[in-house]
Amino acid sequence: SAKSGGRGAFRFFEPELDQLMHARRNLERDMRDALAGGEFELHYQPFVNTATGEIRGFEALLRWHHPRRGLVLPGEFIPLAEEAGLIVPLGEWILRTACAEAAKWPAHLKIAINLSPAQFRSKELVPVIVDALASSEIAPHRLELEVTETVIMHDSEAVFAALGQLRELGVRIALDDFGTGYSSLSFLQRFPFDKIKVDRSFVSELSSARADAHHLARAVVRFAVSLGKTTTAEGVETKEQLDVLREEGCVETQGYYFGRPMPASAIAKMLRRGAKRGDKAAVCAA
Ligand code: C2E
Ligand code: MG
Ligand code: MG
Ligand code: MG
Repeated sequence: SAKSGGRGAFRFFEPELDQLMHARRNLERDMRDALAGGEFELHYQPFVNTATGEIRGFEALLRWHHPRRGLVLPGEFIPLAEEAGLIVPLGEWILRTACAEAAKWPAHLKIAINLSPAQFRSKELVPVIVDALASSEIAPHRLELEVTETVIMHDSEAVFAALGQLRELGVRIALDDFGTGYSSLSFLQRFPFDKIKVDRSFVSELSSARADAHHLARAVVRFAVSLGKTTTAEGVETKEQLDVLREEGCVETQGYYFGRPMPASAIAKMLRRGAKRGDKAAVCAA
């Protein structure tokens, strides 16, 4: 029938599967040399006060400058780094590099760093964070660690213990990609997050012409705000989306509308320009 024929057409043929596996193995091998070779770089994206546009901090986002393939984005290699066990040394480099960079910024600005579930399986996670804070001399409350729901779902004992210890130090914990997970909402009660980041998939629907999509997205934002934590909207690209977020009382906004992820040097330049103008806090252009 047409139906079964249609399905069959999407099956991987063996040579393709072989090529795919080969490409993955190559990428994995390349990644082992990349850290030592200085091919990784952190970019920083501002998050701002929704009402005023004042910058509140920056999220560190990993970039890989591959010698032959050019720029590779984390969606492609983080899962491989997790499988290959490389996320632990890579994650340590990310934590130390981002904290050292944040130490150069005005002290009211926060640094947000993404953590993979696999990093929680290492006993070194908390000591590495403590050491990264001590050697960069940034105050613990300036550090925000972003975790997704999957982190909370797995290995809960160890994860909860680590998150609890970090929170006791004064580090803030943010729930990333809110609304995209599969578990029940009860995990929101099981761990006291400081911040909730509403996923970009909902934020983009805030400007949808489809009434049902718009209403669902607005309800997700409203729900997050009602929890009484700092709510951040991810991936804001338009004025229309921003206006809805202001209406809903969403405290923080992040997205291309205010600024793309940029190299550390560009951030430093932007902050210097702001200081010259005498801004008490740097303000994004939009
Ligand atoms: P995330 O933490 O949810 O980061 C937000 C992603 O949305 C980033 O993609 C960012 O560049 C992108 N983004 C921000 N504003 C906009 C916008 O207005 N429009 C659109 N279309 N996109 C926007 P990126 O940098 O490719 O990172 C993807 C994911 O990879 C991150 O999602 C995070 O889960 C992971 N990741 C990135 N850096 C790290 C890292 O250092 N460590 C770990 N463990 N994961 C990381
Ligand atoms: Mg994030
Ligand atoms: Mg996110
Ligand atoms: Mg994400």
